[in-house]
Amino acid sequence: MSMVKERSGVQKIAPYQAARSLESVKREFGLDQIIKLAGNENRLGCSSRVAGILEEQKSQFSFYPDSNCTVLRERLSSIHNVEPDHLVFGNGSFELIALIAHAYLETGEEAVIPDPSFGWYRNVTLQMNGKPVMVPLKEFAIDTDEILRLISGQTKIIWICNPNNPTGTVLKEEQLRDFIKKVPDHILVVLDEAYIDFVEEPYFDTTELIKQHKNVILLRTFSKLYGLASFRIGYGIGDPELIEKINKVRSPLSVSFPAQKAAEVSLEDEDFKKLVLDNNRKSLDLYYSELKRLGLDYVRSNGNFILIRTGADGEAVEKAFLQNGIIIRNASEFGLDGWIRVSVGTFEENKKVIRVMESFTQERKRQEES
Ligand SMILES: *Cc1c(COP(=O)(O)O)cnc(C)c1O
Repeated sequence: MSMVKERSGVQKIAPYQAARSLESVKREFGLDQIIKLAGNENRLGCSSRVAGILEEQKSQFSFYPDSNCTVLRERLSSIHNVEPDHLVFGNGSFELIALIAHAYLETGEEAVIPDPSFGWYRNVTLQMNGKPVMVPLKEFAIDTDEILRLISGQTKIIWICNPNNPTGTVLKEEQLRDFIKKVPDHILVVLDEAYIDFVEEPYFDTTELIKQHKNVILLRTFSKLYGLASFRIGYGIGDPELIEKINKVRSPLSVSFPAQKAAEVSLEDEDFKKLVLDNNRKSLDLYYSELKRLGLDYVRSNGNFILIRTGADGEAVEKAFLQNGIIIRNASEFGLDGWIRVSVGTFEENKKVIRVMESFTQERKRQEES
């Protein structure tokens, strides 16, 4: 046993459960093709311009990246109509979420976290010896009234995943605006907007919120719509005073040069974005009609994933999918027993998911009847 003691905050963190690797699933089930629909990654890949820019810029690979992300900063500043100093870049939103906790959360302070939601908010809170205050969802949506009720003298950060992962619900504009107005302005409200581009109905421009409220920060990522998850790049938008504190704790070179270039060209590829959003819309519609036909419950999604009620033991469902070469997420890990979360795939992949669901459901019925 090692005599070296970790910080007390680290003791409370459960070891990170990585999704199963493609290789281990291939070996265990003797498959040569696997469809991974467990990480909400973009199954259409990324813009074809990415490969081109990397080839073109390869002579730069031996240099350290621009820590300021100057070109990307200028592009996003004009896209979002905010000054360049309102932006902070990170090694994916994962890093930005950790940095926000590192910059703002004191030992013993409370972070309010809807549950279930993105698991990393709780982890970073514990890292800082903060106190997670978990707030159950109400009908799969974030319960803003309950959050307001639980604000205490110790509350420092409120994490809002909008649309929420893993349920796919989005807050109505009025509800969100009203909630933010009611949060005292010494409490930081983080709006994690990883899936904002996938919202079903036209949504308002949330960057307005950071202009009206100096305690609000938005997080965006290139991992989902743009399909750049392996590059690790995301950004925050907020008041320069907030952004400055996050920059102080940021590792200066955390956003690689390839990631910056890939992001820059991806922003310009409107055709790819449209392709992804069209596929997402059609795919979700397919799920809605087919799940209805199968008599299975689901939550309407504003993300690139869907939460489905199988009613069966999550591990059994997970295994049935693995045997068919598909990795999905057993939602028991989010406290939703009997549910699975499936990322939107290509249209063909979604059809395969439905076929597996159909035969699993029929098999189960047969067993129940015999
Ligand atoms: C996928 C996801 C992210 C993105 O993380 P990156 O580190 O940018 O890849 C952030 N928040 C939520 C809720 C997500 O689901």
